[in-house]
Amino acid sequence: MDLRRLILILAVMSALITLANGFFATYRVQRQLLIDSTLAANHLYAAKLASSTAIFFDSTQRQLAYSASLLANSFDNADILQAETRRLLSQTNTFNSVAIVDTHGVVLATSPETIHLTGHKLTSPGAMDALRAKLPRISDPYVSAAGNRVIFISSPINDGDGNYLGYVGGAIYLKQKSILNQLLEQNYRDKGLFTYVVDREGQILYHQDPAQIGQILNSGPVSEAIRRQNEGSMQELSRAGVNSLVGYATVPNAKWSIITVRTTDNTLVSLKSQMLDVLNRTTPLTLLTLMAVWLFARLISQPLRQLARSANVMDRVGISDDIERIPSWYFEVAQLKRAMLLGISLLQNKIGKLKTEVQTDPLTGLFNRRGLSFALEYFRASKQPLAVIALDIDHFKRVNDTHGHDVGDAVIKLLAQLLRASSRSSDTLCRNGGEEFLILLPEADRSTAVDIAERLRTSVETANFPEIGHITVSLGVAFWTPEMGDIALALKQADDALYQAKKQGRNQLVVA
Ligand code: GH3
Ligand code: MG
Ligand code: MG
Repeated sequence: MDLRRLILILAVMSALITLANGFFATYRVQRQLLIDSTLAANHLYAAKLASSTAIFFDSTQRQLAYSASLLANSFDNADILQAETRRLLSQTNTFNSVAIVDTHGVVLATSPETIHLTGHKLTSPGAMDALRAKLPRISDPYVSAAGNRVIFISSPINDGDGNYLGYVGGAIYLKQKSILNQLLEQNYRDKGLFTYVVDREGQILYHQDPAQIGQILNSGPVSEAIRRQNEGSMQELSRAGVNSLVGYATVPNAKWSIITVRTTDNTLVSLKSQMLDVLNRTTPLTLLTLMAVWLFARLISQPLRQLARSANVMDRVGISDDIERIPSWYFEVAQLKRAMLLGISLLQNKIGKLKTEVQTDPLTGLFNRRGLSFALEYFRASKQPLAVIALDIDHFKRVNDTHGHDVGDAVIKLLAQLLRASSRSSDTLCRNGGEEFLILLPEADRSTAVDIAERLRTSVETANFPEIGHITVSLGVAFWTPEMGDIALALKQADDALYQAKKQGRNQLVVA
């Protein structure tokens, strides 16, 4: 797992969570909005319908009252009564039948005449109620003798002295075509929304499903509210277990309630497409954001990634330059880069110093044996011809024995300085152990090598050493060319020549 992936996962996760959260919140808000607006619309619709129905009943009663006032003066004229019932039936188109009844309930005139009621006594609940009350009435619905579900609207007829003469009334058949019916049925075209009407007992008067008419609305919050003649809206689980949004309002003069219902499912049908719309609108920007995040994640993680890779190969040649090139556009990377570069340079200095120390003889500062093998390796690789001088101090044991080991050391040190002073910068000087030295002279031909060896010998011989005065050295000179192969051969020859010089009396040089 690398940083880029971590940042990406984090960003993608937070983007998705934000998106889902926004989507869900929008869904909830939108859903509640739809439900609330539907509830309000249902209530409004029920109220509108209730007020229209109330106006209808009101104007119907006014018509009857006006008829009643006209009829008071000609109550004994059967033709006028008959003409008035005909007028009421056909001019208003409100009633299915109209009758004028006397104080005993006997029909004086009726329309349509096909029902042949004139002279008969009316016994229907509506008629009896009108007779009893002697007041304008809208009856409760009842089933007539002919089996029709009807309501009866009536207005009393009083003479000039206020004596009750009877009433004029009209029946409206709830299941047959009438203005009332049309008024209440007009919404049936809207699928999903339906309206029904109940009386104050909760009996269904109008319903899109005719089988429901006459049924009593069973208990529930809506039917409770209706019985109390309240107005409003609520969400209700219907009888069929369907969640519905119900608006209800009352028709005050008929004591009816009008109930408008839309199922919650039907209400929320548009929600799905709305949410798809929301998704369509939010997705492009979300994708763009994710792409930007991906780019930024790359930009942020790339320098760290490069630094981490470099940390794996800190010992590689040129790693400092590679690290130097890593873009460090923000603080942490800049600091890390600085620290790494500093660390590498310190390490390389330290390694360089250790390498020198390991190859140097501490007493003389010349190469030691390890330094020598390093130098030999170099000459072998570069195939440079070489002259080799082996040098040993004569009778050095005596110096030690006479003057002590410290003086011996000082002599060795001084001799080393002498050797360095008498050699070229390209020559390699090496303390080969004890008081023996090796001098490698690259590109030196025989006479040059001999000259140099001889010069060394004389300069030692003539040099004055503190406390002990003069010493001498013996030297063996040999040559190496790349064709000879191993340089050790030349070293051995130089050593043998040195041995020869010792044997021949010391303070001299022998060429191999
Ligand atoms: P020669 O070479 O002429 O045959 O006689 P030598 O007395 O020099 O004999 P050799 O080279 O065999 O002896 C080397 C002596 O050098 C032995 C030891 O006491 C002394 N020696 C070797 N290394 C050191 C050193 O680092 N410091 C001191 N003070 N003495 C050393
Ligand atoms: Mg020796
Ligand atoms: Mg010696």
